[in-house]
Amino acid sequence: MEDHIDEILIPRQSIAARVYEMAGQIAADLRRDADGEPQVAILAVLTGSLIFLADLIRQMPLMMRIRLLAVSSYRGRTTAPGELLIDRAMLGDLRDQHVLIVDDVLDSGATLTAVQQTVFAQCPASLRTCVLLRKDTVAAQTVRADYVGFDIPDKFVVGYGLDHDGHYRNLPDIVTLRPEVLA
Ligand code: 5GP
Ligand code: MG
Repeated sequence: MEDHIDEILIPRQSIAARVYEMAGQIAADLRRDADGEPQVAILAVLTGSLIFLADLIRQMPLMMRIRLLAVSSYRGRTTAPGELLIDRAMLGDLRDQHVLIVDDVLDSGATLTAVQQTVFAQCPASLRTCVLLRKDTVAAQTVRADYVGFDIPDKFVVGYGLDHDGHYRNLPDIVTLRPEVLA
């Protein structure tokens, strides 16, 4: 697996340092928002955000509930091509909750926009969005992300939860793959 790596874009030490910073900032903002102890609901978009989520929440000493959200692009008869399906039953009751959406990569923004709209419809007390990576694309800049771990070039990356065809999620660094592996 290691010999499939082309370039280490973000080493594990840099990820750890940045996630520590983000957790502190988010926890402080959530505390400031609420009158007393905030009712925090974390919504993590599966599957890429899994490791980021695990590191982030263990550094946020707040009462919180965690929900894992499956978002799939579904091409069927009843939906428009490419429309994103969100299992609303997974959201739970978000009324008066301080919601934090956690996702891995902000690219076209389609995923985050769909999740944000679904959450807004549930009347949360507040809504924040946190992404580990934001691609250097025009579309990515137009979507609201309150916390961004790293801005990266528009390259395909894996590791630290991110996959290629289901593999490489367990790599501790964020890397690019050799062209012959991607082909
Ligand atoms: P968007 O809806 O913003 O276009 O897509 C974001 C989703 O596409 C991410 O949550 C992630 O699952 C996937 N994605 C986008 N860029 C990359 C990438 O460079 N590597 C991997 N592994 N997934 C990506
Ligand atoms: Mg994703």
